[in-house]
Amino acid sequence: MEINFTKRYALALMLIALLSTGTLYIVEFALKASDFTALIVNKSAKQRMYSQRIASFSQQYYRCTYIKQNCSDHATVQLILEEAIHEMRQANNTLSSGNIKKDVEINLSTTMSEIYFGDINLKKRVNDYLDLAKKLTQTQTQEEALEILDHLLLVSNPLLVDLNAAVYQYQKEGEENIANIRYLEIFAWLLTLFTLLIEVIFIFQPMANAIKLFIQNERSHKERLEQEIKIRTHSLEQANQKLIYNASHDPLTGLNNRFNFERELGNILSNYHLNNVPFSVLMLDIDWFKKINDTYGHNVGDHVLKELSTLLSAAIRTEDSAYRTGGEEFVIILNRISKLDAIKKAEEIRHSVENYTFSCDGYIFNITISCGVYHSQCIEAQDVHEVMKLVDDALYKAKHLGRNRIVLGELYVPTVL
Ligand code: GH3
Ligand code: MG
Ligand code: MG
Repeated sequence: MEINFTKRYALALMLIALLSTGTLYIVEFALKASDFTALIVNKSAKQRMYSQRIASFSQQYYRCTYIKQNCSDHATVQLILEEAIHEMRQANNTLSSGNIKKDVEINLSTTMSEIYFGDINLKKRVNDYLDLAKKLTQTQTQEEALEILDHLLLVSNPLLVDLNAAVYQYQKEGEENIANIRYLEIFAWLLTLFTLLIEVIFIFQPMANAIKLFIQNERSHKERLEQEIKIRTHSLEQANQKLIYNASHDPLTGLNNRFNFERELGNILSNYHLNNVPFSVLMLDIDWFKKINDTYGHNVGDHVLKELSTLLSAAIRTEDSAYRTGGEEFVIILNRISKLDAIKKAEEIRHSVENYTFSCDGYIFNITISCGVYHSQCIEAQDVHEVMKLVDDALYKAKHLGRNRIVLGELYVPTVL
């Protein structure tokens, strides 16, 4: 389609260039024609003027030569007369032959040929007239001169009438010629308009439509792409969120995992170091959990882990969080809490687990948990690992002391003996 339009566009431009060149030629032609008409009319009018001048100066010549009256300068009169004869003869030859001037040649029209060579026989009559005038300048006697002058004046007026007719005929033919060129100009103008109309209908309009369609297609293609990008970005965001969730949550219980725990404990520790906001960490471990698995099966074990997660989540406040940090090991962060309240909360959780009856796969049973407690006001831990170490030690102690109990992690102060 692109190549097709390029071809059409080139064709349209070519046609316009062609028409412009044609119009230029017509204008040039019209200028030449009007120039030529002016030239030829001027030449024939001059010839008419010379014929009168010859008639007038022939009389003066006769008076100067033979009567010698009213004559200021005989030589000048003769010179003007001979010059007029010469000029008129040249004009007669030029006009009758069609060689108007160098490089300008015409074919005489039928009417002009008739005037010069037909019944009117203008060419010959002009030459005869000029011969008479010439002869006058060569006469020796007054009688001979008078006879020639009479003859010359006799033919002068009818000749003037026919020279006049020639001037009007040239003028008429020139005007007709210009009128024809004007028709040609109008035709070229109409042809240009028509060609432009055809180009608009068959070239420019389809091109404009194709461009419009192309832009529309591009726009809808862009919109489609944008929509696709939006959908993909959304699903990527969702996948990303899912990945972040999976990386930070335990799939079995849905609780935050160890990764999240360490990150949030880090934040809480910083807050504690900056603002001295007290906090507590509880580490809980199911007592003899292996036995549950061994006795009732792994499925029941999983059920216990899930039920316990729900229990722990329900037991804590909104500003606290519960985590599954290992197999049957859970951690709770209690935020903005006093040591006493932390111990009370740990005890409350231990008690509620002990009194909770689990039921799964037809088995009904109870479990207990042991719990290590860390509180920021008891021991100042510097980092997450120190907190973990302290709370883990406390849990170990709880296990060691017989399980189903809580132990507060405290600094080991050696007994001074
Ligand atoms: P203690 O009182 O000393 O903690 O004894 P325990 O039996 O609870 O401790 P032990 O470390 O010996 O056993 C933990 C068991 O927890 C072993 C393992 O099979 C089980 N366990 C760990 N993760 C899962 C789990 O995702 N599902 C189930 N069903 N069991 C698990
Ligand atoms: Mg354990
Ligand atoms: Mg255990």
